[in-house]
Amino acid sequence: MANPLFDALFAPLAGDAKPLLIRADGSTLSRDGFFRLMARQANALSGMGVQKGDRIAAQVPKTPEALALYAAAVALGAVFLPLNTAYTAAEVDYFLGDARPRVFVCDAARALELAATAARHGADLLTMEATGAGSLRDLAEGAAETLRPAGCAPDDLAALLYTSGTTGRSKGAMLSHANLLSNAEVLVGEWRFTPRDVLLHALPIFHTHGLFVASNVALLSGASMIWLAGFDASQVIGMLPRATVLMGVPTFYTRLLDAPALDAALVAHMRLFVSGSAPLLSETHDAWQARTGHRILERYGMTETNMNTSNPYDGERRAGTVGLPLPGVELRIMADGAGVATGETGMIEVRGPNVFRGYWQMPEKTAEELRPDGWFITGDIGTRDADGYVTIVGRAKDLIITGGYNVYPKEVELLLDAATGVLESAVIGLPHRDFGEAVFAVLVAQKGVALDAAGVLAEIAPALARFKQPKAAVVVEALPRNTMGKVQKNLLRETYKGWFG
Ligand code: ATP
Ligand code: MG
Repeated sequence: MANPLFDALFAPLAGDAKPLLIRADGSTLSRDGFFRLMARQANALSGMGVQKGDRIAAQVPKTPEALALYAAAVALGAVFLPLNTAYTAAEVDYFLGDARPRVFVCDAARALELAATAARHGADLLTMEATGAGSLRDLAEGAAETLRPAGCAPDDLAALLYTSGTTGRSKGAMLSHANLLSNAEVLVGEWRFTPRDVLLHALPIFHTHGLFVASNVALLSGASMIWLAGFDASQVIGMLPRATVLMGVPTFYTRLLDAPALDAALVAHMRLFVSGSAPLLSETHDAWQARTGHRILERYGMTETNMNTSNPYDGERRAGTVGLPLPGVELRIMADGAGVATGETGMIEVRGPNVFRGYWQMPEKTAEELRPDGWFITGDIGTRDADGYVTIVGRAKDLIITGGYNVYPKEVELLLDAATGVLESAVIGLPHRDFGEAVFAVLVAQKGVALDAAGVLAEIAPALARFKQPKAAVVVEALPRNTMGKVQKNLLRETYKGWFG
């Protein structure tokens, strides 16, 4: 029986001696070795009673075993549910209560802390250490290395992936075999992946970027991956000579630019640098090109849809834009129930085989955001120019309404970022007695600059209508970011909520 995702990503690994994963110490795990690891895990889990449709939750260090657990879940027709390693016991409790997994694999170091949570929600607890050792490995040790994967239909679920929780409580996005496979196929083609590629993988695998964009694309194309437990600039620089592609969040690129060892010679052999998950500043894009000679390819996606748009591989990669809709993905920009004119701003909606099957156990939320005819309301506000390039202006939830006027934070942030001595900025709306919300700016200074907030506001004022001008600004050391490099505007709004009384 067919199992679409397994057949495309994992079945071809069996019996192939080529390296799949290259570890930080240079040792490798072959494609066949990975297949057998996956098969042992799948057989062990099946022996515990895991069946098709069961959720397998994992909050584990990034190891080859962790990737094999994803593969094992797919093989069993189970639903893989990875969790951010930063989540506290209370947060894990919410996810386990919501998803009711059959098995929960956690970091061995946290097993005591999480045992009660797992038990409360009826999940069997297994452990995995940063070395890959643990009770899952023990259980899998003697298990068979051959496997008959469970039959799955294209619409069957392969993963339950929770959103990052940037704008509110994380929601479980139900992703099918067809959702994941269609997107991986498109990206392999668009980004020209081949078996000769070596992807430098330093992203976490509890998020769509590292798990689906990076891993699925490498697996589907027959590429190898340099499998790093996390991002460390000097380690990445040490590995770049062996890689052909790097995928990262914008912070990867800014941190690499801080390293003097990064130069054009080091990356002359590289084929592609991809960025996403958060906006890449034009300044970073330009600095990267100046230093390395490469133009970063920025793309845009989200947990619910995988990737929607990408700058072209061969055509012009435009800084500050997220490029063009991917083949098979329809994209429209809506305001007041109709499509906007070219260059106008509105809500980005997308439709295609990549769009998820709804939020786990949230029919009302699903109905609010997923239209019956398949269009998904992304929550991102954007524009599209005459050439079709899409620019993201911000999130609908971050839109500021001050005295009845709309202010798009990005417009103000771009001016602030370009002001003298400013490294970056975040513009938010804060409660204000007269205006409802008032525009407020949080600034980060360039290295060694003593920034005067009032001076910065005066500098940008001539370029902005009065109502868009921040009414106040503060200078901070750094913007609060989550692991994917997303600025946590909800935290900023909370911190400064009393500013205007
Ligand atoms: P939540 O939905 O729980 O509030 P989240 O939307 O941050 O969290 P993700 O699905 O991880 O969770 O992130 C998707 C969002 O990331 C997109 O909706 C978009 O706002 C942002 N994003 C992704 N890529 C880019 C990009 N290249 N430029 C700007 N924003 C991006
Ligand atoms: Mg979201």
